[in-house]
This record gives sequence, structure tokens and C-alpha cells, in this order.
Amino acid sequence: MIIMRRAFLLATILLLTGLATACSGAAADEPDDSRLRVVTTIGQIADAVAIVGGDYVRVTSLMGPGTDPHLYKASARDVDKLRSADIVFYNGLFLEAQMEDILEQLAERQTVVPVSAQIDRARLLPSANYADEFDPHIWFDVRLWMQTVEQVRDTLASVDPSHAADYQTNATAYLADLEALDAYVREQAATVPEQQRVLVTAHDAFNYFGRAYDFEVLGLQGISTASEAGTADVQGLAEFIAGRRIPAIFIESSVPVRNIEAVQAAVRNRGFDVQIGGRLFSDAMGDADTPEGTYIGMVRYNINTIVAALRGEP
Ligand SMILES: [Zn+2]
Repeated sequence: MIIMRRAFLLATILLLTGLATACSGAAADEPDDSRLRVVTTIGQIADAVAIVGGDYVRVTSLMGPGTDPHLYKASARDVDKLRSADIVFYNGLFLEAQMEDILEQLAERQTVVPVSAQIDRARLLPSANYADEFDPHIWFDVRLWMQTVEQVRDTLASVDPSHAADYQTNATAYLADLEALDAYVREQAATVPEQQRVLVTAHDAFNYFGRAYDFEVLGLQGISTASEAGTADVQGLAEFIAGRRIPAIFIESSVPVRNIEAVQAAVRNRGFDVQIGGRLFSDAMGDADTPEGTYIGMVRYNINTIVAALRGEP
């Protein structure tokens, strides 16, 4: 009898332990989490999804700070994340050049949306690297990027119509913030004398920025970082900078610094001292716990850095 009781007690303990384990397991895997699972390529898109989706989405960005989207290849873990997502958002316009195949495959059986889809093609600039492709760096023109936020809103509403009103409200508020951001960038840009409104960077990411905010833009590499800068490019750019006496050139967070340093050295050989005006966030945002880890923070940081350097301020 005692043995039986012990056995009963043991079974009860095992059962309770089992239940406890099951409960904690449930919390970790979150099977009751009814939020939409959204996976994005670049952080700029993840930021928009998190803001528009609010409490109803769980968003993961595959590419973190400092990651170059032109060269990024999806890992096996990324593919798992992509496959289990309710929605996959990517930039499109051949930004994620190494991921095109996997994204196309996934699109056959999942909701896979390029956020650039709704943008009028007449507003896009041509790619310098790829014939028949557009320049993918649309986030540098805040007004153009606002159209991707509308795409995010519309996709979330169609996949999850029960929260469409929330997505609408969140998007409307965010779009108002972006409109204010656009006005801020315009205002700041106008403080640089027109002759000095020249932006020289490591790769051609800033052409939309130049068009929207009236800067002449020169990049050392082409639109994609996949192409190498040649000696002729460095010398040609150095000649231009020295001739125009442009006070500063810029490095980028997702592109190696050596190319732009080579330009600086070549300019100095011509007897003109050009400064490195700072590090701009081009294709990737800053660290998650910093202001530059958001799209709005990144855009503000860039324009403040550009304006300070080109006005010749310390
Ligand atoms: Zn780029």
C-alpha cells in the first residue's frame, strides 16, 4: 500500500512537473501568439511594419546595422524564417540582388510583397549598373518612401482585415510624421549655399536624395556595391572635388571606408584639403537602441551630418 502511495505521489509529481514544463514551453514558443509574423529584408521596412502593425504584428528584419543589402545572401536560418512568415516584405527594384531567386520561389505559395510595388515607375530613377533596372534607394526621398508605408498598410489590411482600422490609424499618424520629416530635410538642405550642395559618397545611394532636396550627387562606386571603384574613378572624382573646393566627402555605414579615404588622399595630392564629413547611414540603419536605429532618426542624422560638414562647421 505504501509502495502504491509512493508510486501515486511520484506520478502526481511527474504529472505536475510535466504540466509546468508544458506551460513554460508554451510561453517560449508562443503558440497562442495570434500576431502576424512578418519578415523583412532591410531595417527601414521593418521599422515601418512595426509602427503600422502596432500590437498585431511581430516583425523580424533579416539584415541588421551595417549590412549591405546588395551583397546579402539568405542563410538557411533566414530561409526558415521566411518560410514561416505570414507576410514577407522586401524593397524590390533589385536591391536584394542575391535574394531574388528565393523571394520569387516563396512568392508562389506565400504573401511576398515588394514595398516599391505601388510607386509610379515615372518617379523612379534608372540604375547605373543594371540595364532595365531602377535605382533601388527609394528611402532617401522621404515622399517616395511614404508610398511604401501605404503599401505596408494596404497589405496588412488585406491579410488581416479584422485590424484594418488600426493599421489605417497607425499609418495615418506615421505618414504625418514623415511629412514633417520631409519638410525638416528640405529646410536644413536649404541652409547650405547652392554652390556647396554637392554630396560625394562611397556608392551611388543618394540620387533620390539629390533629386528631392537639390544636391548634386557623386558616388565612387555604382548603384550597387558589387562593382569595384577603379583608379580612374578615384582620380576623376579627386579632380572634381579639388576643382570645386568641396569641403567634405562622406563615408557610409554599410560600405568599406578605404575607397573614400583613397579619394581624400588623391584630393590632398592636388593641394586641397577635403574633410571626411562623417559617416552616413545609407543602405542600413543604426543600432536598434540608438535614434539612428529608426528610419526617421537615420534620415535626421544624415541631413544634420551633411549640412554641418558642407557648411564647414566643426
Ligand atoms: Zn546601395
